[in-house]
Amino acid sequence: MPDAKPGEFDLIRQHFTRPTRHTLLGVGDDAALLQPSAGQVLAVSTDMLVAGRHFLPDTDPGRLGHKAMAVNLSDLAAMGARPRWATLAIALPEPDPAWLAAFADGFHAEAQQYGVDWVGGDTTAGPLNLSVTILGEVAAAAALRRSGARPGDQLWVSGTLGEAACGLACLQGQLDLPAPARTHCIARLEQPTPRVALGLQLAGLASAAIDISDGLLADLGHLAQASGVAAVVQHAALPTLAALAERRATPLVDDALLAGGDDYELCFTAPAAAAQAILAAGIAAAVTVTCIGTIRAGSGVTVVAADGTVRPARRRGFDHFDGATCP
Ligand code: ADP
Ligand code: MG
Repeated sequence: MPDAKPGEFDLIRQHFTRPTRHTLLGVGDDAALLQPSAGQVLAVSTDMLVAGRHFLPDTDPGRLGHKAMAVNLSDLAAMGARPRWATLAIALPEPDPAWLAAFADGFHAEAQQYGVDWVGGDTTAGPLNLSVTILGEVAAAAALRRSGARPGDQLWVSGTLGEAACGLACLQGQLDLPAPARTHCIARLEQPTPRVALGLQLAGLASAAIDISDGLLADLGHLAQASGVAAVVQHAALPTLAALAERRATPLVDDALLAGGDDYELCFTAPAAAAQAILAAGIAAAVTVTCIGTIRAGSGVTVVAADGTVRPARRRGFDHFDGATCP
């Protein structure tokens, strides 16, 4: 007799039940029981990844598991919160044991790296769809909101920009990069590094923060709007991988820097007097931080060229309901 297909509960037991480190009750009951630390509030965020929209359906399952966790960690980083717990709701067309094992291992490894216990979820048949809810802790007064930027603040970003979008362009045959840069950019797309340590350093120090998931201009636009301020970006200051800097005259690469999605860097603001502390925060978190502009009174995001002229923006970033398709 052929082996019976694994059922929902076999899948949960085999792949989704992992040891926890700081959880009263994890997978297996009707709800998990979590004990927040004294004096902290919970930061809660959910991100959904849909096959064909957020990732290519043939994406390596281990990398996809990593990414599903990493994009959620990035949201907590942008709040200055310490990630603690996560749940995974997954719809699967066909339970392929090898795919599931690789996916669950990638998800769990990335969770463990940041001290996150995987405490529950839901499993169902359907078109491939992943929804992760992450919970973290932060002191209420130190949480990094989008709304705290003030005129006179400096504008900063972590890491380098545009690499994930260039990785996608490589995969789609629209961009040709030398092999090491190509590999690097595809890894940035498929295995983003959430800036959790930097977020923790910036808590109580930065005035506002957002993570760059939809492109610098779009996400900075959200921060500026929430704060009721204008943002001025110095185009020449944008931190750029050398192989991309050489191709900056290419519209595709320039668009990737300003508007490419999936970077998961932090964009944040702080009073000018905090600049030394921001640089020290970057060193402590082992990530470069670059001042890319300033906050002024007004509204909107302006990009200024090296000669001081305002650059017209070609693309603003990704909006799921603007008719564009991605990837
Ligand atoms: P219920 O029917 O009470 O909602 P389920 O049968 O959906 O419970 O789930 C049983 C247990 O397995 C629960 O503790 C739930 O959190 C856990 N679980 C289900 N799917 C997942 C998943 N994808 N990842 C982690 N835990 C899961
Ligand atoms: Mg359920």
